[in-house]
Amino acid sequence: TQMVRVMSSSVDTLHEYLTAKLNLINRLIEKDEDKTSIQGHLYDVLREGREQLSHMVTGMKKLQESDGFHTWRQKTSRDLGALVQRRLQFLQNPEDCAKAKKIVCTLDKECGFGCQMHHLVYCLATAYETERTLILNSKGWRYASDGWETVFRPLSNTCTDDSGSSRAKWGGTNHRNDTQVIDLPILDIVKPLPRSLPLAVPEDILRDLRLVHGNPAVWWVGQLARYLFRLQPKTRNYISGAARKLNFHGIVVGVHIRRTDKITTKEATRHELDEYMSFVEDYQQMTQFSRPAHLPRVYLATDDPDVVAEARRKYPQYRFLNDLSTSKSASEETRYSEASLLGIIMDTYFLSRTNFLVCTFSSQVCRLAYELMQTHHTDASAQYRSLDDTWYFGGGSHQLREILLAHIPLKDGNGELKLEPGDLVYSAIDNHNGYSNAKSLKTGEIGLFPSYKGIWASKSVKLPTYPNATF
Ligand code: GDP
Repeated sequence: TQMVRVMSSSVDTLHEYLTAKLNLINRLIEKDEDKTSIQGHLYDVLREGREQLSHMVTGMKKLQESDGFHTWRQKTSRDLGALVQRRLQFLQNPEDCAKAKKIVCTLDKECGFGCQMHHLVYCLATAYETERTLILNSKGWRYASDGWETVFRPLSNTCTDDSGSSRAKWGGTNHRNDTQVIDLPILDIVKPLPRSLPLAVPEDILRDLRLVHGNPAVWWVGQLARYLFRLQPKTRNYISGAARKLNFHGIVVGVHIRRTDKITTKEATRHELDEYMSFVEDYQQMTQFSRPAHLPRVYLATDDPDVVAEARRKYPQYRFLNDLSTSKSASEETRYSEASLLGIIMDTYFLSRTNFLVCTFSSQVCRLAYELMQTHHTDASAQYRSLDDTWYFGGGSHQLREILLAHIPLKDGNGELKLEPGDLVYSAIDNHNGYSNAKSLKTGEIGLFPSYKGIWASKSVKLPTYPNATF
């Protein structure tokens, strides 16, 4: 209760402080006072206002941790994760592979690592939806010709061959249910679309998940990715060796800077290091009272080796956990070699083990890291800043927010939307300045709304509940 009192008093104080300061600034402007004195007051607001906010952020966290539901949320999130993993284990390890229903995916998509992992996420979701064991065809993989198991653990201990008494192409959940083996094409051409595609979340999981996580669809994708991302001992050793060398521990901010072909092919816009670092700085300030003072630690992953040197030069006040010898392997020429595979697995792994991510969600690498990150925290859905898109799953329906609080545009000409609770908006850009871009599904209007007024939507879908997955 003391914490509640402190918090409510700091809300009051901040309110008084801002009102007084902003009124004062307004008066000074009206009186045509000189610029430096006005600037001085603005600087105070930025500094002191942020310090007060930072205390409030810490207080909020403490409050959440002591509200009696904290342990329940932690436990529920962990239990739901374990449940999904158990179901996947069950699905993937049938007692009799010769009789098992199978769905086959091939790892030959012409794209990068993140894109291929998302291809497999879609395959695994469809396997879950159809209760068919996912068989992975990965010989001749562009990253490692011997296939998936060069670096990752097999998807099954009992069933990895795709033979069967009958075989057909995918035709939907109820189509050819008796056929033993179904071949699933890539998502770009699949017809009909599987029902399990994001934003779908299994109905029986979503009920509790909604109470503990801010973006259930990301959580669900994260759990599927978690099952896929089980490392071979050799890969695990490689990563733990790197973790020791980099001294990777404690609170770390992850920064992913995607350049090279993504920019030259105009798939994404280039962003400068400073833009990423301003969000790192902001996170650092907002959390400074909740942890002991030390050099803020940043894990910087990039396909542009020059960025690491630039970061070390320009930001000596941060400790960059980077191994310069590995960042070279991400260059375009060697992108699909086995060495580059270890590099990108390592970068994805470390990014997913950070406390906060700053990147461009147009990149599948960072989206994958963000999805995996959810499996390590009770709710890390808000622990990111994306310089371009909001999170989405390519090929799924996405970026929908459900409006919780009504919004009436405060003034004309700001391009704001009028919204009512329950409205759904398509929101592909969060400007991270308090406002997000949106298109109302109800009226078709396009405009801005205050980001806090909406929550990320997911779609409740009735999927198998695996009552026998009890081991
Ligand atoms: P996207 O193109 O960024 O959406 O993601 P993809 O995974 O489809 O392709 C990007 C490819 O570039 C990856 O598979 C890597 O080979 C390489 N790459 C991009 N960012 C990084 C990075 O931070 N580290 C490493 N090692 N490789 C990267």
